[in-house]
Amino acid sequence: MPGFEVFGDKEKQEIMDVLDTGVLFRYEFGEQRKGIYKVRTFEENFARYAGAGYAQAVTSGTVALKVALAVLGIGPGDEVITQGFTFVATWEAIFDVGATPVFTEVDTTLNMDPADLERKITDKTKAIIPVHMLGSGARIDQIMAIADKHNIPVIEDTAQAVGATWRGKHLGTFGKCGTFSFDAVKTMTTGEGGMVITDDEKVWRNMSEYHDHGHDHVPNPVGRGGEGRSFIGFNYRMMELQGAIGIAQLAQLDTIISAQRQNKAAMKNSVRKLPGVTFRNLVDEEGDSATFLAFFLPSREKTQAVNRILQDNGAGAIAFAENTWHYYPKWEHLINASTICSSGWPFNEADGRRKVVYDPEVLPHSAEIMNRLLVYQVPVKLSEERLQQIDAAIEKAAAEIG
Ligand SMILES: *Cc1c(COP(=O)(O)O)cnc(C)c1O
Repeated sequence: MPGFEVFGDKEKQEIMDVLDTGVLFRYEFGEQRKGIYKVRTFEENFARYAGAGYAQAVTSGTVALKVALAVLGIGPGDEVITQGFTFVATWEAIFDVGATPVFTEVDTTLNMDPADLERKITDKTKAIIPVHMLGSGARIDQIMAIADKHNIPVIEDTAQAVGATWRGKHLGTFGKCGTFSFDAVKTMTTGEGGMVITDDEKVWRNMSEYHDHGHDHVPNPVGRGGEGRSFIGFNYRMMELQGAIGIAQLAQLDTIISAQRQNKAAMKNSVRKLPGVTFRNLVDEEGDSATFLAFFLPSREKTQAVNRILQDNGAGAIAFAENTWHYYPKWEHLINASTICSSGWPFNEADGRRKVVYDPEVLPHSAEIMNRLLVYQVPVKLSEERLQQIDAAIEKAAAEIG
């Protein structure tokens, strides 16, 4: 997830445009900014790149989810279904609008299991958030069919899959909204930042106003205009320096992805040597952004044994089953209903009664898959030495576990 790997002259040049005018803010300062609107330009370029009608920049990928949920009218009393393998941000955003997250199993795509989604839909389900984890798509056609049948809007959490496609169409353009993150470790970075894309003009106009304290953007949908307000909002404005970096990073995204694809193929050739190894089910291999290489071993014991050998030889993989940021049973603050809010919100009702309990045992199928999963991050810049180190570690593991 390596936008930071390619940070360089192009980004610096874009930043200098902003520093030269001294206008660090996306709105106002008409004369002084000399026609420079970096955040706006970044939005236009991003929408065009993804093939979406509109794009709204915000301060993070977490906020992108929250803004999308907010303008779709999701709030207290509503349930939002997402998956048990994702970054905590996905369900933090659901709680933050007052709704209750419900978690589905993942299958060998490492994304939402459509059959489990269908089982978990209730009268209270008001949105579905499939997450395109680790650079590659969920079964988005099946998920959209189920959502459409029940008339429930879909927000695609595409934070980890910018530039990835399904049958040639960008992930994030299938649902009502698609959200993206440009944080420190994502495929493209603006330091901190996020984006929401949509084809629905009204949704976009509402996001524009909501993320800017409800400022009336009516006479000028990309900026301010009137002094009326239609609803209460918040401040999630991206600043011009981030927009500038985003322009430069987006221009390199296809180059980043093609380098990752090459490096992933080389790493995969090594990993293939492990006896009994199988690879993540990619719903569209050609559309994979190749940010991660995910593979399975036949049992939990073998998986742990292999990773110990890889670690001892300087090429340890990520074991997401043990990862406390991405996997449901390891979210102890969710399981234990830990909150800093004295009333116990969002786990309790306003009168203090417990509203929702998260049982760590409820996703057994995911556990069976996650316990056999190992993952390598694929860098943009992979040296021959590093590749050889990985290859040697894999060969050792293959020899020892037989
Ligand atoms: C990174 C990430 C986010 C949140 O993005 P931030 O910009 O860090 O707030 C949301 N969902 C997923 C799946 C992520 O990986």
